[in-house]
Amino acid sequence: PEDCRVYEFAEKVNRTTGEVIKILFGLGKMVTKNDFLEKDEIEILADEFGVEVETINPLDELDYVSIYDAVEDEYLEERPPVITIMGHVDHGKTSLLDKIRESKVAEREAGGITQHVGAYQVEKDGKKITFIDTPGHEAFTEMRARGAQATDIVIIVVAADDGVKPQTVEALNHAKAADVPMIIAINKIDKPDANPDMVKSQLAELGYMPVDWGGEYEFVEVSAKSGQGIDDLLETIILQAEIMELKANPNRRAKAIVIESSLEKGRGPVATVILKNGTLRVGDNVICGRTFGRVRTILNDLGKQVKELGPSDPGVVVGLGEVPDAGEIMVAMDSDKQVRELAQKRAEYLRQKELSKSTKVTLDELGNLI
Ligand code: GDP
Ligand code: MG
Repeated sequence: PEDCRVYEFAEKVNRTTGEVIKILFGLGKMVTKNDFLEKDEIEILADEFGVEVETINPLDELDYVSIYDAVEDEYLEERPPVITIMGHVDHGKTSLLDKIRESKVAEREAGGITQHVGAYQVEKDGKKITFIDTPGHEAFTEMRARGAQATDIVIIVVAADDGVKPQTVEALNHAKAADVPMIIAINKIDKPDANPDMVKSQLAELGYMPVDWGGEYEFVEVSAKSGQGIDDLLETIILQAEIMELKANPNRRAKAIVIESSLEKGRGPVATVILKNGTLRVGDNVICGRTFGRVRTILNDLGKQVKELGPSDPGVVVGLGEVPDAGEIMVAMDSDKQVRELAQKRAEYLRQKELSKSTKVTLDELGNLI
C-alpha cells in the first residue's frame, strides 16, 4: 500500500480497524483510524497478521512505463557519459571546464545566449560527453543525499604544483562512496614548478595507483591554460565510458535528473536537467518531486530552443508549476490527469507526514503529561 491509513490497512488485510489500533496501542502508539501508518508500523502489523506487504512511498523514484513505450532491451542504445569535475579549490576545475567547452562546443549563435545552462556537451571523435558545470562537491553531495546519481564518471583535478590537498581527499572519498569510476587530471603542467610525479606518488600512497605504475587509476596530465592534454583526457573518458557500456532507451518517456533550478522573470520556474533515460519532448506532462507541469519550452546546452532531449542530454525545461530541488527526478507521464493525481498524492503524503510528526503523541509522552 502506498500512503496507507489505518482503516485502509485494516480493509486490505481483512481485519477491523479496532484490531489494528489495538496492536499499535500495545506498542505504545496512539493512532486513530484516519492516521497514516509509518513504514515500520506497517511492517510490524503485517508480521502480526501474517500478511505480505509491499510499501510504496509516492515520493519514491518513479519508473514510469507508458503503454506507448517500447521498453524491451533491443531498444537500448549507447548513451554519452555524464561527467562531474571535483577537486581542491584553485586547482583549475572551472578553467578546465571552460577550456573543454571552448575547444569543443560548436560556435554559439550570434545574438548571444542569455540563458545559463549548468551543463554542456562536447563531441570527440563523433562521441558525445556531457559535463556538469555546477560547483562540484555541493551538487554531487546534495544529489547523492537524495539518492540520485547524475554522474557516471568523476574527474579529480589535482594541480601539479600544489599536490593532494584536503578537498582532493574529500573529492576522492565522495567518488569512492558513490562507487563512481574516477580519472585523475593532473592540471597546470605548464607551470615551471609542476611536479606530476609528486601527485602520482601522493595518490599512490592513498591507494590510487596509476595505471602506468601497475595500478588501475587513469592519470592524465593537462593544462587548462594551454589546452595541452585535453584531447587525451577526453579520449580517456570515452574509453572509460565504453568499458561501462552505458545504455539508455530513447524510445520511452523521459526520466531526467534536476541539477539546478531557479525562478526566472518571464519564464517562471526553470530546471536544468540531464536525461537519464528516454526522450523528453515539448508538450510532455511531467512530474518532478512535489511539482508538475507541461513542458512549454526546452533549451539545449547552448541555450537554443529545441523540440526534444535524448539520453544524457543536458537542457533547460520551462513549464513546471514550482521550482524543483536539485537532485529531484523528472518523469514524463501520459496525461495531465496522471501527473496531477500523483502530485496530489505526494502533496497529501507530505502534509500527513508533517501532521503526524506534530500530533502523534506516544504513551510515553502522555505519561509525562499526566
Ligand atoms: P577552481 O577553483 O578549481 O575552479 O580553479 P580555477 O579554474 O578558478 O583556477 C584557479 C587559478 O588557477 C586561476 O587563476 C587559473 O587561471 C589558474 N589555472 C587553472 N588552470 C591552470 C593551468 O593549467 N595552468 C596555469 N598556469 N594556471 C591555471
Ligand atoms: Mg571554480
